[in-house]
Amino acid sequence: MITKKTLNLSLKSLRDFGKKRLPDETIIDLDAKDECPLEIVRHMCSPDKLGIQLLFVPEEYGGMGGNTFDVYCVCEAMARIDLGVATSVLATFLGSDPITVGATPEQKIWLGRIADEGILFAYGATEPNAGSDLGALETTAERVMDGDRIVGYKINGSKQWISNGGIADAYTILANTPAGPSWFIVEKGAKGFAHDEPEDKHGIRLSNTAALSLGDVYVDADRLVGGVEGQGLNQAQAVFGYTRLMVAAFGLGAGWAALDRAIPYSTKRIQGGSPLSQKQGYTHKLIVPNVARLEAGRAYIEETAERIDAGEGSLNTEGAIAKYMSTEAGNMAADASIQALGGYGYTHEYMVEKISRDVRITTIYEGTSEIMEMTISRDRWQLHLKTRGQHYHDLARRSEALHARHPEVGANIAALALDALAEVMEKARAGRLTRYQHILLRLGELIAYAESAACLARRAARMAEGKLNEKANMRFDAAALAAISRIFAREAAMKAGAEGMRWIAGAGVSDAEIAALETSLKLPAIHRAQAGLIADMDYVGDVLYGRVAKQAGQAA
Ligand SMILES: Cc1cc2nc3c(=O)[nH]c(=O)nc-3n(C[C@H](O)[C@H](O)[C@H](O)COP(=O)(O)OP(=O)(O)OC[C@H]3O[C@@H](n4cnc5c(N)ncnc54)[C@H](O)[C@@H]3O)c2cc1C
Repeated sequence: MITKKTLNLSLKSLRDFGKKRLPDETIIDLDAKDECPLEIVRHMCSPDKLGIQLLFVPEEYGGMGGNTFDVYCVCEAMARIDLGVATSVLATFLGSDPITVGATPEQKIWLGRIADEGILFAYGATEPNAGSDLGALETTAERVMDGDRIVGYKINGSKQWISNGGIADAYTILANTPAGPSWFIVEKGAKGFAHDEPEDKHGIRLSNTAALSLGDVYVDADRLVGGVEGQGLNQAQAVFGYTRLMVAAFGLGAGWAALDRAIPYSTKRIQGGSPLSQKQGYTHKLIVPNVARLEAGRAYIEETAERIDAGEGSLNTEGAIAKYMSTEAGNMAADASIQALGGYGYTHEYMVEKISRDVRITTIYEGTSEIMEMTISRDRWQLHLKTRGQHYHDLARRSEALHARHPEVGANIAALALDALAEVMEKARAGRLTRYQHILLRLGELIAYAESAACLARRAARMAEGKLNEKANMRFDAAALAAISRIFAREAAMKAGAEGMRWIAGAGVSDAEIAALETSLKLPAIHRAQAGLIADMDYVGDVLYGRVAKQAGQAA
């Protein structure tokens, strides 16, 4: 168990290290040279140096046993420095996850080696013909027998886009055994095992990504993770909630890193006689809505992390929602930050274009956004059917109850989003519209927005009550968080109402059904809930630019 003090010390060391060893000039140079700073990655993962890996490794194997919440905080902090280096560090934990969840006690020695020796791992799942659909895996692991005893395996195949592929000391490789997909631990230098040159990538150019080839690579039978064939996909699934949260934290950290460059820039850049920060058409388009979306993602990450840590299971769907919201928000924030810096934003020197290229990967790896939409939609569809359409109406009633206790956090507007979502899903059920894959996936998006709105309202209420997790991000006070929550809830309600209607009508239902849906979606109430939006955006803008404190006569 890591205390708040220890976590803060680790985060501070990480930030100090970033400032010292990875200043902007160094990052820009490495990005241009497309170079992974291996020595820096090793320094970060060395027990006698920065030792970031210790936070991820359980205490019984020599680590500090950070929980999901701690790991989210570390991932966000790493992403704020450089997402490529962060990916290198994360790859070790993705690579060792099958070992953490599925290995035999003897195999867990590898976790000890990560803690004590700082060895780097890579996670080898993706193949040239198996990306989103890992079931299409072609790499094989053929049994090597001694009589009727399995003594080892011969692995043949290739892996694509493997982070740390060219620099890892050990690899977990997913391969098909006679009993199905299974993870194997393969060490660097094994005969028949090779990696390609690093990929020339759009972003995260400070991380090493390489293809792997395996030609008759022999491993002893004790390198089969867990010792039982066919457990590979279950072992991968068991940690999806957790690993997706880490990538969600990457989206959040990178998105904020970009905004935290755009915000100060806009206070200094004078156009038309005044700073950009004083122009509503600038802040309310480029800055404030992105803050609201990122903080909605954060609320979902923090709540899911707490629930995983409380033992509620792997929470794969919640991890998917957190990843979807935070990485999409991170991308939007970084793109808006380029716009916010104008021509300067388009150059390397000002970093936001690099962050924008980097954060792009977060909607692709660890499951693309489309796969997240599908995962979310399929899971919640089952809840919709099981509760005969009541699931989101029930959540709406809970949000209304929260509104009764905390009328300031926008929980009533989140309830409108949830009610509209329930109606859209019911209409999709009655018309059997999820036979259209596009509608199924769009529902995933609406679900993510509506659930995140309710979650952000809960976070704002907890903040008001002084009951946020002690390790939670405290950038915004209760009043600011409430305003952010209201802004986001309005967006979510508009989305559920307007886009829900759009897709249902677009699937070709009758005029009468559209008219009935217009009523059941409570569109007039959703429209009226937009009242106060500009004032809330003004307030959040004032908070971001330190104008609230100044008005109140306090230090900015
Ligand atoms: C820089 C980088 C680092 C990576 N690191 C690792 C790593 O360390 N280990 C590892 O194993 N993998 C890694 N990956 C691989 C990554 O996880 C995959 O790229 C990702 O899962 C998508 O697979 P794919 O590239 O084959 O795309 P595809 O699966 O072919 O998808 C292409 C597009 O089609 C969409 N799509 C796919 N299936 C469907 C569907 N059923 N319905 C609708 N749309 C669909 C996708 O959303 C996407 O937009 C990395 C990738 C990159 C680029």
